Amino acid sequence: MYGQEEVAITPGMQRYIDRSDAYLKRRSAYIRDVVKKWRFDTIAVHGLYSMQDALEDYQGSIIEPCFMSPAQAFRDSDEMAAALAYLIPSWTYSRIANPTTYYYEWTLALLEGYGFDGKTSACSTSSGMAAIAAAVQPFLVHTKHHVHEPRNFVATSQCYGGTFQLFSVRLMEERDIECRWVHNPEDLDEWASKIDKNTRFLFGELPSNPGLSFFDIQAVADLAHSHDIPLICDSTVATPALLRPIEHGADIVVQSATKTLTSSGTGVCGAVIARNNLTTHIDNESLKRDFALYIKYLPNRDSGPNLHPMQALLTLNDMRTLRSKVDLLSTNTMKVAQFLDEHPGVEEVAYLGLPNHPHHELASKYMWLADAEFDERYGQPVNRYGHLLSFNVRGGPEQTRKFFDGLQRIWRATDLGRIKSVATIPAISTHQQQGADARKLAHIPPNLVRLCVGAEHPDDIIADLDQALNALTRKSVASLTGTGT
Ligand SMILES: *Cc1c(COP(=O)(O)O)cnc(C)c1O
Repeated sequence: MYGQEEVAITPGMQRYIDRSDAYLKRRSAYIRDVVKKWRFDTIAVHGLYSMQDALEDYQGSIIEPCFMSPAQAFRDSDEMAAALAYLIPSWTYSRIANPTTYYYEWTLALLEGYGFDGKTSACSTSSGMAAIAAAVQPFLVHTKHHVHEPRNFVATSQCYGGTFQLFSVRLMEERDIECRWVHNPEDLDEWASKIDKNTRFLFGELPSNPGLSFFDIQAVADLAHSHDIPLICDSTVATPALLRPIEHGADIVVQSATKTLTSSGTGVCGAVIARNNLTTHIDNESLKRDFALYIKYLPNRDSGPNLHPMQALLTLNDMRTLRSKVDLLSTNTMKVAQFLDEHPGVEEVAYLGLPNHPHHELASKYMWLADAEFDERYGQPVNRYGHLLSFNVRGGPEQTRKFFDGLQRIWRATDLGRIKSVATIPAISTHQQQGADARKLAHIPPNLVRLCVGAEHPDDIIADLDQALNALTRKSVASLTGTGT
């Protein structure tokens, strides 16, 4: 097969291989004996960037250096040949790998693998959508003997708008790969009824954006594995500070690191994080053994969804305080949700932290602030539910737009995961392209507002919402009595 050619190993190449084997052994021991014993915050701050790395290779720089160079130079032809045949760890060319994205990948692999006793690895991508495409496509290949066999996969219908388009248009309409939507992901029988021998993987977004739907990860993972297929989770909304699907049985996690992982909002980026030795009936040993490394070395090398090293460093810097930031954002959001829940201008609030949310109980089973038991403020496990909520404005689409236009502090933008509060109306923005029927499928009514609460003082966010909501009732009362201006 092209690209998989056996290489003849010269004695010179062998010397490089021996040297890098020793390096890889040292790295494994460092991960096993040091990094895996750290708490979440220490991993988020340091990842795999060690003092030894800094002093030996990077002139003592305490922050991971940003390597802008597209290409790596080699000492001689033996090193080049060994590197290009992937026989030694190297980076070669920034479309394939890069020293800065390497540290970004390891931090994410270790955070998603926190509390999981197996090995995880990560592949950086240029966006969350690139991560989703890179995660699903290797399972949709034609197998050797059946070029025209039907292929399908099963996915939660409540998902990010871009994911919906990728699955329904790019894969289903354009490539004849059937996407079977699960409408009620809490219902295990619905998942089970959609799987057959041509199913390649299960995909679930949780909590979903913006619908906050949820499912029992362990049960769905067990179901997938009983069919010898993987479970892929998009857990962008939770981040590893609150939820790590791999420890509950998922095989692969995709992150739109653009969101809460880069809460400062400095760019678009993503990652695929996978457990080693995942479950699939696709006959491909390197894909099974280390999926993230496989997509990095082969499919992504050839399609090029690589992350810019500058963005990798910006995101690394944002991730160092992830846990405490997500805690603050979550507690702020809880206060805002409670305020909205009691406001007469609001029909309904959907926040996983509110006991009236249909998925509150299930979310409470899975969403825990990492290491709360080692945090002196808590001293015990605490549930946290993230900073995404949605609510329905009373009075229909027009009132909803009026309320939205009245916001003064909260930004109107199709964005979430920010340190600044941001709101959108999904029906006219993120979920506009898919049309009314698909919006119904995804539970997106026209009076739904998605709000992602930031790190401002919650009183100021509440005041902004209050004035915009009260302006609606004032106006409608005024127009009824004929005294309005
Ligand atoms: C934003 C988002 C994506 C897409 O990520 P990009 O970085 O914008 O490509 C995927 N999934 C979820 C849940 C998202 O919120």
